Amino acid sequence: FLSGKRALVTGSTSGIGLAIARALRAEGAEVILNGFGDSDEIAALCEELGASHSAANLLDVGEIEAMMAEAGPLDILVNNAGMQHVSPVEDFPVEKWDQVIGLNLTATFHTTRLAVPAMKDKGWGRIINTASAHSLTASPFKSAYNASKHGVAGFTKTIALELAQSGVTANCISPGYVWTPLIEGQIPDTMKARGLSREEVINDVLLAKQPTKKFVQPHEVGALAVFLCREEAGNVTGANWSIDGGWTAE
Ligand code: NAD
Repeated sequence: FLSGKRALVTGSTSGIGLAIARALRAEGAEVILNGFGDSDEIAALCEELGASHSAANLLDVGEIEAMMAEAGPLDILVNNAGMQHVSPVEDFPVEKWDQVIGLNLTATFHTTRLAVPAMKDKGWGRIINTASAHSLTASPFKSAYNASKHGVAGFTKTIALELAQSGVTANCISPGYVWTPLIEGQIPDTMKARGLSREEVINDVLLAKQPTKKFVQPHEVGALAVFLCREEAGNVTGANWSIDGGWTAE
């Protein structure tokens, strides 16, 4: 049902973004990938998805502007690229704070402001922001991440209101823990910050949050993104959709 629609998914060379790109492609959308990685692996993904790829670093506004100009008018924008840093606030490296806020929050503002005019002209558009359970609740040692994701949730509500009569919807998807390289990468620092073993971090910190005791699967997040693109989701806007194994119900 998405043939003829063009979708840009940021941070889609890995993890959740890749799963969303695959899910949109499976419904017929033309997909533009973005993100870093091994050039052969990215070429294989482009081949698999009939996609193009932008290597834009979303910490650089000039590179975002070039990516958006090259992408042309979009029907679907998925702001998904994100990063984490785990540290007590008093030791939080200042440059890491700027990067986490820059990628998770500020880049979402830039892509959105550049995508909105064409969506308004067409009278149709879908903006989907990958927020997090940490847009609704907090865990210690993730000050920048939690601030950025609460910011994404507030930004999404605001643009949903601005665009409410334009045919363009804006929503957040807020996953709990999804097993991706982002999660794997934070295990060593969480071990250090909390003085725990790897097993303890997985079972007593990560899965302790999720009543289902299961990691969310990337393809489940992809299916939710597809739903938000349906015509039947035209009245779903300004919402923050949890997919977190019950985490935020507690
Ligand atoms: P991931 O590390 O697997 O993928 C991150 C993607 O972003 C990659 O494609 C990477 O190349 C890209 N990226 C990183 N820095 C970039 C930059 N400066 N410019 C452009 N692209 C950049 O992570 P993931 O777990 O799939 O996370 C995707 C999103 O989901 C993030 O916003 C994350 O905060 C959010 N999220 C993840 C989880 C989880 O449990 N994995 C939970 C909730 C929310």
